[in-house]
Amino acid sequence: MNVYEGPVQTLIDELGRLPGIGPKSAQRIAYYLLKASPDDANRLARSITEAKARVSWCRQCFNIAQGELCGFCRDDRRDATVLCVVEEPRDIVAVERTHEFKGRYHVLQGAISPIEGIGPEQLRVKELLRRVGDGGVTEVILATNPNIEGEATAMYLAKLLKPLEITVTRLASGLPVGGDLEYADEVTLGRALEGRRQVDA
Ligand SMILES: [Zn+2]
Repeated sequence: MNVYEGPVQTLIDELGRLPGIGPKSAQRIAYYLLKASPDDANRLARSITEAKARVSWCRQCFNIAQGELCGFCRDDRRDATVLCVVEEPRDIVAVERTHEFKGRYHVLQGAISPIEGIGPEQLRVKELLRRVGDGGVTEVILATNPNIEGEATAMYLAKLLKPLEITVTRLASGLPVGGDLEYADEVTLGRALEGRRQVDA
């Protein structure tokens, strides 16, 4: 059902591949861009190209970084003995909003999801184990999302981390179940962080 030709259809197809953008939204954004001034449209195109060229993954925690290490890994004031494990860089933003956490992060870049064909090997699990195995870490907080995939990921990691003789904790209940960490308000997330409990794997 490709109604449009050439570049317009290509634009709609590409926009439709973005997360949360259905075919109707893709059409609407495409029309908007076609009507926009060349300057506006070029600015958007340039910001995508530049972000892709200049931003990569932190080689230590796999957060978004400009250069080798992200801001958190470069900051010596952050406590390197506590690691907060999250699914995506945007979850770091949620945790930071609480002002309750002064440690370091580790970004898995997803969660275990058999339905979507995502297993531990697609995530930054090996890197997490290596990081903890290198020593210096005394606690790992499993701050994956409070949904099925996040819980399964947390349990999987807890089992792997247990032999390393560190404290493994999980956010306290009280977070909206089934949701994403980023949608929790900072007070609720702050309390869940403060009331974190040791995981028995
Ligand atoms: Zn980092």
